[in-house]
Amino acid sequence: MKEIPVFEKDLERTCIQELSDSYGTNRIFMKRDDVIPFSFGGNKARKAAGFYRDIKRTDTDVIMTYGSNSSNHCRIIANMAAGMGLSCHIISPEENRELLNNTKLVQTFGAVIETCPVTKVAETIENRKAAYREAGKHPYFIQGGGHGNHGTEAYVRAYREIEEFEKENDFYFDYIFHASGTGTTQAGLVCGSLLSGDVRRKIVGISIAREAGRGRDVVRESIREYLGGRFDTLYREESLIFTDAYRCGGYGHYTKEVAETIGAVMKREGIAMDTTYVGKAFHGMLTYLNEEKIRDKKILFVHTGGGPLFFDGLAAGVFSAGR
Ligand SMILES: *Cc1c(COP(=O)(O)O)cnc(C)c1O
Repeated sequence: MKEIPVFEKDLERTCIQELSDSYGTNRIFMKRDDVIPFSFGGNKARKAAGFYRDIKRTDTDVIMTYGSNSSNHCRIIANMAAGMGLSCHIISPEENRELLNNTKLVQTFGAVIETCPVTKVAETIENRKAAYREAGKHPYFIQGGGHGNHGTEAYVRAYREIEEFEKENDFYFDYIFHASGTGTTQAGLVCGSLLSGDVRRKIVGISIAREAGRGRDVVRESIREYLGGRFDTLYREESLIFTDAYRCGGYGHYTKEVAETIGAVMKREGIAMDTTYVGKAFHGMLTYLNEEKIRDKKILFVHTGGGPLFFDGLAAGVFSAGR
C-alpha cells in the first residue's frame, strides 16, 4: 500500500488563535483542527491519522466503514483509502440520501457505497466483511465517525497539544467547548484531562444531535473503553458535561440565529463553519456562556472541521450577512 506522507509522522500541533472581542467579556480562542492538512481537515482527519498507522501494520486491501455518504467521516476515509491505493467500501443508511459536496467527493474517490435500512446495518457490515474474507480479501473496518480507541486517542493527543500551548504561553483555559456527535472527540478530551489530573477546567460538549441521556452514556462508555482498568480511579461524573440544549431539534436542524452567527464569524474572523456541527456548536457555546452568566474567562473552542459542508450552506444561501 502507498504512503500518505502527512500521516507518516505525528501531526503537527494545530494553531490556537484568539478571536476578536465581538463575543462579550470572555476571551474566546479557537483551536483550528479544521486546518489539519489532509482532505479539508477536521476531527475525522485527526482520527484517521491513528487508523492510518494501524492499517499500515496490516495487510489490508479494503477499508470498510459506516456512515452517511454525505458525512465528513466518509469523505476522509474514502480519501485516505484512495491515497493509500486501497479499495473503500462504505455502508450507508438508505434513509440518508442527501447529495452534498462530501457525497460528490466520496464518489470521486471511487468508494463503493452500499445502502441498507438503518435497522439492518450491523448484519450488512458482518455479511460484507465475511464476503470479502471468503474472496481472499483483508478488510479493515472503521466504526462510524471514527469511533473507538484510535479516535479517542486522537483527542487525548489534542488535549496534550492544548496543555503544551498553555505551558508555553503561561495560560489556562477555564473552558473547552466543541461539537459533540458520536462523542469520541469529547471522550478523548475528557480522558486527556483525567489522565493529567486536571479537574478544574470544564470541557463542554455541545450535542449536535443526541439527547443528553444517551449522549452522555456513549461518551462515558468511550472513556471507560479507553481508560480500561484506570477508569474506576480516574473517572468523575462531573468531568462529563454534555448539553443537549442547543441541538435545535436534532441532527441537521439549525436556527436562523445559527446561520447568522456563521455569517458573522466568517465576516469578522475569516473562519468558515457549517450548520450541522461547528456553527451550531459555536452558537450554542455563545448562548451557554450568556445563559450561565460566565464572564471574564478564557474559553477555547475546538473547530472540528466540516469545510465542504460550509460550501453546501453557502450554495444554498443560508448564511445571512449577520451582525
Ligand atoms: C463528526 C464531527 C463532529 C462530532 O465529533 P464526534 O467525535 O463524533 O463527537 C464535530 N464536528 C464535525 C465537523 C464533525 O465532522
